[in-house]
Amino acid sequence: MSYRHALLVDDDPVFRALTEDMILDAGLGSVDMAEDGFDALAKLDAGMQPDLLVCDLNMPAHDGVSLIRSLSDRKFPGKVLIVSGEAAAVIDTVARLARMQGLNIIGSIRKPLTTEALNDALKRGAPARRFGAPGSVAPADPAVLDAAIDRGALIPFFQAKVCMRTCQVSGAEALARIAITHDEYANPVPYIQLAEQTDRIDDLTLALARTVAHHVRDYGVNGEPMPVSINISPLSLTRRDFPDQLAQIIEAAGLSCTQVTLEVTEGHLMNSGPDVLETMARMRIKGFGLSVDDFGTGASNIDRLQRFPFTELKIDQTFTRNVFTDSFARTAVETSVRLARELQLNIVAEGIETPEMWRYLADLGVDEGQGYLMAYPLAPTDFADLLWRGIPLLGALMRA
Ligand code: C2E
Ligand code: CA
Ligand code: CA
Repeated sequence: MSYRHALLVDDDPVFRALTEDMILDAGLGSVDMAEDGFDALAKLDAGMQPDLLVCDLNMPAHDGVSLIRSLSDRKFPGKVLIVSGEAAAVIDTVARLARMQGLNIIGSIRKPLTTEALNDALKRGAPARRFGAPGSVAPADPAVLDAAIDRGALIPFFQAKVCMRTCQVSGAEALARIAITHDEYANPVPYIQLAEQTDRIDDLTLALARTVAHHVRDYGVNGEPMPVSINISPLSLTRRDFPDQLAQIIEAAGLSCTQVTLEVTEGHLMNSGPDVLETMARMRIKGFGLSVDDFGTGASNIDRLQRFPFTELKIDQTFTRNVFTDSFARTAVETSVRLARELQLNIVAEGIETPEMWRYLADLGVDEGQGYLMAYPLAPTDFADLLWRGIPLLGALMRA
């Protein structure tokens, strides 16, 4: 798969004209233009879905830094390329900031833009083939959300977690998919946001947990029941009865809560009150594992982190993916591993896409890896197949 549609945001009409040609020559199907951040956001609000956004930094209205913040707030799913006339150190800092805010930055280039630099960035950041991954990022439809929760159109896809010492599948993360037709699935993010806004997020999580438990009964790794991770919205951590409801579902399916790890994103935790801590303690007492997801994107340090009863730390994929191109990402990964060791947490790295990343993380002592290199998120029957056949590439990785 290659890029289809770019949105070019720059206030300079001459640069826009030159760059439009370069982007089209690089093989993209179409390019739209915006003259500043406001214009770009208006186009996105009107339903435009570019898979690449090329962004200047210095623009008179709603500059690149503000645009990046707005893109992050709305969880822009495409790739972003920063092209600016600012000093290299400034561009670098903004790119880091953008990655920390969760954006998928494929490069930061100092003007003048050349064909080589553009092609290089596009090649490096080419969208990965997302087998079994959500195809559509259209806004969430409330009727579809209700159907998903109440009538079984909420499907867990399973992405393998792999032990980095033995190269064996060690478990899986369940990722929500919304079935639109029998073989088309919507991106979960807008539906999770809608469920959070309409107070249906507990219903969504519990419905998904029911289906996950039903499938996981049939899955085993190394002759043992398979460990599985489920994502939990921070909102559910403020609900007193949530741990009981979840435990009841898991146990009714014949599983043990100790088989299940609950992933909570780091960003929302730090300002949370005693009610959240209480829910987390009760989850641990029931036997659930607790994972701090997307670690590195919030503002945790060792003092703050050890206030929470976590059992696992999950290094965010924006860091994993950039360890070889960004010294800040590398430092973040290495610091996270040290921190997790100190707190005796299981360490998982997500977003492993190349054998080089695998080797680097295995050498650092990361316990488990997850990423497209080993396995895409798969529909339940395809995942059962993967457990049965194993992952062929893993032997080669181990020998490398
Ligand atoms: P997440 O929990 O950080 O999940 C990892 C995301 O990275 C998944 O996206 C997965 O498909 C993708 N991914 C895995 N390996 C790679 C890789 O090697 N490269 C790249 N580029 N991406 C990789 P997905 O499935 O679209 O899920 C997006 C987010 O939606 C999740 O991020 C999670 O925050 C949320 N989510 C998914 N299911 C649920 C759910 O049941 N409940 C809640 N509350 N949130 C969920
Ligand atoms: Ca997760
Ligand atoms: Ca994550």
